[in-house]
Amino acid sequence: MEIKNTPYKMLDPENCVMCGMCLNNCPTYNISNNESESPRGRISIIHGLNESMLEPSQSALSHINSCTLCLACESICPAKVNFYQLITDARNKYFKKQKMLFKVKTQLVSFLLTKSYLKKTIINIFNILNKKPLKKIFKFMNFIQLENIEANNNIINKKQNKNEVGIFLGCASAIFQKNVANDCMQILKKNNISSRIIENVECCGSLDYNSGKINKGIKHKEKLIKEFREKDYKKIIAYASGCSAFINKNVGNIDYQDATSFILEVLLNSNDNNFKITKKNICVHKPCTSKLANIDFDKLITLLNNIPDLNISVFEDNYCCGAGAQNLIHNKENSLNIIKPKIDYIMSNNIEYVLTYNVGCSLNFINSLNINDINTTKVLHPITFLNKILIK
Ligand code: SF4
Ligand code: SF4
Repeated sequence: MEIKNTPYKMLDPENCVMCGMCLNNCPTYNISNNESESPRGRISIIHGLNESMLEPSQSALSHINSCTLCLACESICPAKVNFYQLITDARNKYFKKQKMLFKVKTQLVSFLLTKSYLKKTIINIFNILNKKPLKKIFKFMNFIQLENIEANNNIINKKQNKNEVGIFLGCASAIFQKNVANDCMQILKKNNISSRIIENVECCGSLDYNSGKINKGIKHKEKLIKEFREKDYKKIIAYASGCSAFINKNVGNIDYQDATSFILEVLLNSNDNNFKITKKNICVHKPCTSKLANIDFDKLITLLNNIPDLNISVFEDNYCCGAGAQNLIHNKENSLNIIKPKIDYIMSNNIEYVLTYNVGCSLNFINSLNINDINTTKVLHPITFLNKILIK
């Protein structure tokens, strides 16, 4: 993934040799068996659009929109096609030709999730909804695990100092998983590392960049990097792997690390961390963003293996969960179909906890579990799970 400041670059069709090696790696091709829903099909469509051989019809654009940006195709492609840039450039170039509903949803999501004051308002509303009896009434909001929304920066009154680790909340993760920031702070505190939530920073830019608003995404990214520079933290971490995947390409000389990756290092390098006996059946999900976010999934499994009595599995299918690049918002049916084998696995193996460090994947799991009436499985960020059972 290479983030460029150019708003659009033409596809060089010579890049793709049409070998088809990517097809079976693609989750949207896998559920549809439709060439237009494959990486190779999308390349042909984009080439046709760019060369004016195809009209930017709703049908043509739908195949560009349904790509989850999992980049499974990129990892296997012998011609090293830069799929991330190809799809985001096409989304950007043809954004104006999208359906009105698509444009409104994209703009609305960006507006609601990136403004600090709106994020605070949404958190406050969710906190009210979390109170009984409102919780029962608002059960229809099944995409939220309301107890995950805790607005609690418990060290905010203390003056910031240079030896602290700053925690960047992101956008969706600031709303739906704010509790994970508290869990980060607690684990770090148990390991004598002082940390605090970085207040009033908006968004890394990936939300806009990936959905076809490249210039807006770049503006968010530049503002964020400037704010990181000014805040003067010893290190900056974020617990949403989607943010880390995007930030990692842009941070320059700032000491940035994904929070899961950092906490795994802290816990694995210390002999003093002990875990409670935990007789649970858990399944660990590996988000597509793991590679770009520099999260060593095997280290997570190694650490979990230190927990007495924990029964650990990973999903047998290698596909992404289907939530990526706002598919959960624009192509919900696709997301539900792509995640189905994982839901079937959860049901047939009586999984009690699903662990995932990507907020979009987390929302997709919660939504699909609710739709399937599975109320015995909880979805947690691995940092939250580790904090729950860490004794120190
Ligand atoms: S990024 Fe993922 S969903 Fe998109 S074409 Fe490649 S494999 Fe398919
Ligand atoms: S693997 Fe690469 S070169 Fe082969 S069809 Fe897919 S995108 Fe084209």
